Amino acid sequence: MKNLKKYILNKSGHFGKYGGRYVPEMLIPIMEELEEAFYESKKDPLFKKELANLYKNYSGRPTPLYFCENLTKKLGGAKIFMKNEGLNHTGAHKINHCLGQGLLAKRMGKKRIIAETGAGQHGLATATICAKLGILCTVYMGAKDYKRQLPNVFWMERLGAEVIAVETGGQILRDAINTALKDLISNPEGTHYLLGTVCGPHPYPVMNAYFQSIVGKEVRKQIIKQTGKLPDYLVACMGGGSNAMGLFHDFLDDKNIKMIGVEAGGKGIHENDKKCDHAARFQTGKTGVAEGFKSYFLQDKDGQLKSTYSISAGLDYSGIGPQIAYLKEINRIETSYALDEEVLEAYKLLAKEEGIFAALESSHAIAEVIKLAPTLQKDKVIVFNCSGRGDKDLFILSEKFNFNLS
Ligand SMILES: *Cc1c(COP(=O)(O)O)cnc(C)c1O
Repeated sequence: MKNLKKYILNKSGHFGKYGGRYVPEMLIPIMEELEEAFYESKKDPLFKKELANLYKNYSGRPTPLYFCENLTKKLGGAKIFMKNEGLNHTGAHKINHCLGQGLLAKRMGKKRIIAETGAGQHGLATATICAKLGILCTVYMGAKDYKRQLPNVFWMERLGAEVIAVETGGQILRDAINTALKDLISNPEGTHYLLGTVCGPHPYPVMNAYFQSIVGKEVRKQIIKQTGKLPDYLVACMGGGSNAMGLFHDFLDDKNIKMIGVEAGGKGIHENDKKCDHAARFQTGKTGVAEGFKSYFLQDKDGQLKSTYSISAGLDYSGIGPQIAYLKEINRIETSYALDEEVLEAYKLLAKEEGIFAALESSHAIAEVIKLAPTLQKDKVIVFNCSGRGDKDLFILSEKFNFNLS
């Protein structure tokens, strides 16, 4: 087999039949400029040093690899370790690629960053790094999302960002993406579009996978120090796929390590079930081209993107990164899904056993660990990525636990 670690960051942006750059003509030069700047910076020791400094002193890296001793005992099988990305500044792994792209934008002389956000988490991380790096920030949100996520709008504005509610279309993420792209086309000179996961046209998947790969690099050192060997399993939740790529990338060529990506099973994934509503692309999705790249998407029979659902806003997306689609196709990774009810149980269990609130996204990974660990011998080691902390889920959780906050 070829060197997968290298292949996943290859300069063509094609991964088997996935990836590519399916964008309007006017966006091509902008993507080419970004691509060139990225591959140059990646080789530049000064850029790497600046980024390492921000990771360490601004975001608090390395994040801990924590042995979940109580959870391990409770489940009675493999040893469970948690990579705690929730302890990053802003509470999730998203800051990793935001800092990377922010530095890159600065280097390219961009004075302004735009982003689109659904739940607000990506907007918040973007607004944060713009404040820190002294770059103007505009965040587009579908008008419906804007209303649903007012606390995040509040925080973004405190950071100096302009948050714009998009009133067109269904007033959700897709409409915000379209508006952001129009903005980019009309301001190609001084603006960088900061995309928040390993999706979109080349070079975004490569670039964000590279910036996130710090997660797996740290895990390799930390797990060897703590157990004297490499892990047997890696588990991560998958929205667009950035935290999963982050954990998996460094280990792709360690053939004995199994990797599992967990999608949002929502209320159920069976099409003829009344409750069916989810974001499990590898369960019922198919190959297609949308939003600038080729990958797996949830589509209706006419090939239109289907609307998705998940208890966790970060996994509620109809596409998945092209590198993930490729790794699944060649069977380097496995995928599974967790239902909302399993996710809530996982959330509760981690809080009770370890005193840690995981984000609802990350709780999908924990739900998989709960199924997997008891089936394995005690000498096996599982590492899961706790992509974020749970504070942000206060409003969803208080409703689920019937707790009236007001
Ligand atoms: C956004 C988000 C995700 C999903 O995004 P990926 O690109 O799949 O990682 C997962 N966890 C948390 C905490 C998030 O904020």
